[in-house]
Amino acid sequence: MNLFVSVSGGLDSTALAILLSKNNKARFVFADTGDEFPQVHNHLDNMEKILGITIARVQNAKYTLKEYEIERKFFPSPRARYCTRIFKIKPIEDYLNDFAPFQLAIGLRYDEAGRTGNVEDYAIYPLQDKKMVKDDVYELCNDHGLVPEYPWYMSRGGCYSCFFKSRAELLALAKHEPELFNDLIYREETIQKLRGDNYLMFDRFKKHPLRRVKEMVDNKIENFEEIPMTYNTGQCGIFCRK
Ligand code: SF4
Repeated sequence: MNLFVSVSGGLDSTALAILLSKNNKARFVFADTGDEFPQVHNHLDNMEKILGITIARVQNAKYTLKEYEIERKFFPSPRARYCTRIFKIKPIEDYLNDFAPFQLAIGLRYDEAGRTGNVEDYAIYPLQDKKMVKDDVYELCNDHGLVPEYPWYMSRGGCYSCFFKSRAELLALAKHEPELFNDLIYREETIQKLRGDNYLMFDRFKKHPLRRVKEMVDNKIENFEEIPMTYNTGQCGIFCRK
């Protein structure tokens, strides 16, 4: 049975990789949507150096998330979460199928027991077997100099285009990462032109297109209405920390 480790770039999967780096049969895999923060790639590079491992970085064979959105004229959302399925789970499964039979170690902690999401029966949960909770994974990562460095305003990383971001995180993205935010404006406006309507990327700012959000941030007018998150942000998370 081939053993693989799913690396998301987050704290839990980093702790898992540290544990399993001592098993010289374990191999490591990360799925790149094309929308990862540069800090995530730096973190993967650091993991490789410090742990002496190689992390296979797989992608959807045809599209990045951005290309797919534009082709389909449709953004992912909590109700249409195709991003995780097509750009995280499927590339990893396609990669692993060449190594069947396999097991895939997933970084779910003991205090998250029961949250196995939509993963198939190939999954194993070594952090749960070792009863590791949040403080344990932090300590292990810290001891190895491998606490992930998300942009300071992000709570957990994930794609810079992710619809799970809070209003504060999106405003910080507009303010501190103009290039990334301009890319989101480009995506929103391109799809609006293709659809011929006012379709928006996020329901966070329902009445405001992203260009207007950016103008308001630049002009320090940030008192516009937020649509509260009503959906459960605790689902899945197994491959993309969300
Ligand atoms: S981080 Fe967000 S946008 Fe990226 S794959 Fe996960 S749910 Fe989708």
